[in-house]
Amino acid sequence: MASLARLATVDVGQVKGLGGKRSKSLSDAGISNVADLLHHVPRRYIDRSLESPISKVPIGPEVTVIGRVVSVRDRRPRRNLHIIEAVVEDDSARIKAVWFNQSYLVNQLKNADEVALSGVVENFRGALQMKTPAVDVLSGGLEGLTVGRVVPVHPTAGGVGPGHMRRAIHNALERSRPIDDTVPMELKAAHGLMERDQAFASIHFPESLEEVAPARKRLVYDELFRLELALAVQKRHQMESSIGIPHEANGELVDRFLGDLPYSLTGAQHRVLGEIEADLRERHPMHRLLQGEVGSGKTVVAVATLLRGVEGGWQGALMAPTEVLAEQHYLGVRSLLADAGMSPALGESHLGMDSLFAEHSDGPAVHVALLTGSTATTNYDPDISRSQLAADIAAGQVDLVVGTHALIQEGVEFHRLGVAVVDEQHRFGVAQRVLLKEKAADAEPDLLIMTATPIPRTLSMTLYGDLDVSIIDEMPPGRTPVATKLISRAEEQLAWKTIATEVAAGRQAFVVCPLVDDSPKVEAASATAEHERLSALMPDLRVGLIHGQMRSGDKEAMMAAFRAGEVDVLVATTVIEVGIDVPNATVMVIEDAHRFGLSQLHQLRGRVGRGLHPGTCLLLADPTTTDGEERLTAMVGTTDGFRLAEEDLRIRGQGTVFGTRQSGIKDLKLADILADFEILVGARHDAFALVGADPTLSAYPELREEVAAMLGDEVEWLFVS
Ligand code: ADP
Ligand code: MG
Repeated sequence: MASLARLATVDVGQVKGLGGKRSKSLSDAGISNVADLLHHVPRRYIDRSLESPISKVPIGPEVTVIGRVVSVRDRRPRRNLHIIEAVVEDDSARIKAVWFNQSYLVNQLKNADEVALSGVVENFRGALQMKTPAVDVLSGGLEGLTVGRVVPVHPTAGGVGPGHMRRAIHNALERSRPIDDTVPMELKAAHGLMERDQAFASIHFPESLEEVAPARKRLVYDELFRLELALAVQKRHQMESSIGIPHEANGELVDRFLGDLPYSLTGAQHRVLGEIEADLRERHPMHRLLQGEVGSGKTVVAVATLLRGVEGGWQGALMAPTEVLAEQHYLGVRSLLADAGMSPALGESHLGMDSLFAEHSDGPAVHVALLTGSTATTNYDPDISRSQLAADIAAGQVDLVVGTHALIQEGVEFHRLGVAVVDEQHRFGVAQRVLLKEKAADAEPDLLIMTATPIPRTLSMTLYGDLDVSIIDEMPPGRTPVATKLISRAEEQLAWKTIATEVAAGRQAFVVCPLVDDSPKVEAASATAEHERLSALMPDLRVGLIHGQMRSGDKEAMMAAFRAGEVDVLVATTVIEVGIDVPNATVMVIEDAHRFGLSQLHQLRGRVGRGLHPGTCLLLADPTTTDGEERLTAMVGTTDGFRLAEEDLRIRGQGTVFGTRQSGIKDLKLADILADFEILVGARHDAFALVGADPTLSAYPELREEVAAMLGDEVEWLFVS
């Protein structure tokens, strides 16, 4: 009887056949202990009950034939060419298999008795032949194993091939079984899960193929349940170890602010603001992620959130990743407040918090400041000095401070920081959250993190398991989705014609030049060349150029000219990806669109159709790969950023998207969070309920031990009390 926690402490080198050098290479491949090994499940199964004699094998379709290896030879007809030929037979016939320059197969085949060859059979001068079939060694030499009618094919790892791996896992399983089941009975019953011990046996060595799916489901559940338990405990821990602020606001400022907006909130904005306000009232600090596409109206929600804090006499901070974005936010907040009649009269000075509720011709005034490395200004004194501003913030005379992340990283002292909003989650990690906590005198500020990068719902659940997630999934009314078309290079005239038509109607266009070799220099050169070519193609239009290698003054001048309508067509590199807002631009042509990633294409497309007139996006591309083709099809098919993000995940695979980010995702050996989404939802629900009822899992010591052992370093701090 062994528990997974115990098996996770047994080195893989202890398994018969995996000692010495093999254990080192396996460990490098992520299989360092017996629990890892048992999670190394077959990539496919060969069902021998479906086996047909070689003499009856059909010519043409993809098939698998099984037979004994009769002979193997390695011919070298010329330099640099090896032809490996093997003859395989069963009782009915022989077949020849041929490979080129795959000499490693020689040893593999020589040591094999029985092999499965998968590929297409052809009739070559009257004899059966397969060219470069996939080879699975079923038995032979030391690696042999008498198995049932379903033969598992384990993926090669650390240089250990399927035959050897099968034998080793068989050994490991025999020594480990029965394997403890730590998942509470009720949960297994509720999900109809088979016993864990049976699941391990069935996934590695099924008696029939029907056993595989339920076995996999069981093990996927276990894996996701452990991950979600870790997240639930982490979240619980965070909640209990921090004292927040129960904002008991009277609603005055926010009501006035929302009431004076020139529009009413969308349903999604309203719902999300409700979720945030519920958090603000709670005793423990908010940790919430606000997702919404560019233009979905996050800023308004953020300002309302900050004003909730201000209402109760607290200060708010709004932080952006760059100075430019911080400035944009400052201007946005300032004008929103001005629209709502909540600006102080200029020159009116440091009345501070008391001024908020004082009678004011326009109602209460909110004092807003911008503080970055290069700028210090406020809406009550534009020319304020840095030192005066710092003093005002420390004295509580500023209600809202807008800046970069440096606001919390460097020595800005707040009087009573109550709510923080951070734009862009990627650069605001755990370390920054700790700093934020330290900023607070005795209570931790509420934190709202905004992001415009759509993250698939499935992922935000696991990735940000310790954050609550709110999604603005509705655009303000009156926006038409950007029409997107795919055009081949040969038809590029269509793109230029569309531009000519739109410009004739008074609109403007972007032409985005391809990414080149990851080199801004080369990219700039090619954009310059394209600018020349298009200027000649469209002699009647005013064609401008902008790229990353230009001096920033020149870039700004070009942007200003484009914004002012003095340029009709702007040829650009991806410098325009972020932050450019020209409502009169209605067409975007993206050249060699297949070379861009999906999320980048989506961000680019978001630059058009932002005004009154509908936008068009023309993808000029001749995709050469399936991935490229799939991305473009997805772009044409939907403008929903979340759907695209899921599609991106599906095309690229979860491993490559998230790399080594702190997420727990890299630890998923079996689960595929898209395909196994329903199991994920169930496991998450179960885990949070269990931790809710029993925060330290005291009634489930084995389960607790298993989570700690299986998730290792990532969570070792979780169960410290
Ligand atoms: P985000 O921050 O999500 O990119 P913004 O908050 O900047 O989006 O909003 C984009 C534009 O939409 C702004 O001009 C804003 O005034 C406008 N807007 C926001 N919410 C609404 C709404 N409910 N109805 C109409 N327009 C809105
Ligand atoms: Mg915005």
